[in-house]
Amino acid sequence: MIKAEGQKPGIDELVVLAKEAGFTYAAPLAMESLEFREEVRSMCSADLCKSYGKSWSCPPAVGSIERARERAENYHRGIIVQTAGALADSFDMDGTAAIMQRHRKNFDTLVRQVKHFYPDCLPMGAGTCRMCRSCTYPDRPCRHPDRMVSSMEAYGLLVSDVAIRSGLKYNYGENTMCFTSCVLID
Ligand code: SF4
Repeated sequence: MIKAEGQKPGIDELVVLAKEAGFTYAAPLAMESLEFREEVRSMCSADLCKSYGKSWSCPPAVGSIERARERAENYHRGIIVQTAGALADSFDMDGTAAIMQRHRKNFDTLVRQVKHFYPDCLPMGAGTCRMCRSCTYPDRPCRHPDRMVSSMEAYGLLVSDVAIRSGLKYNYGENTMCFTSCVLID
């Protein structure tokens, strides 16, 4: 699937690559759906994910919404990817963690492959950065500022809106869980 050096895969080929990496769903990213919203930052500060103020990849350390918008506006294409799976019931925390783990593994594989062709691509993950066993925030600088991955939410994106406008679902039904990420290129 991966082309020879010098031949960059287009969006449709990256979608195929994403499915080969293990994602349940993948699609071209609707760039017009990337709206950087202060209200998503308010959701972050409610700290339901227990990551607010605990990582260089998350608010407030990650910087302003304006900075997020400026960074993303350098890119003109992208793909959106999802890992979905069934849960035993709506309290199935182990099942949720297993799907998240699969999603992170799929995303690491995909980002590695996309970077081969697009070294300056911008990955936006699901959840806080897990590059290090323990984040250095706030005592020391980030160990890997070039590899740190912030979540779509940290960029101020409403993930459900981006997924639906890109032709995917956000919720795949009762007793399922789905994690969503994206990679911007060009
Ligand atoms: S790369 Fe390491 S230090 Fe930097 S944000 Fe991620 S976990 Fe924290």
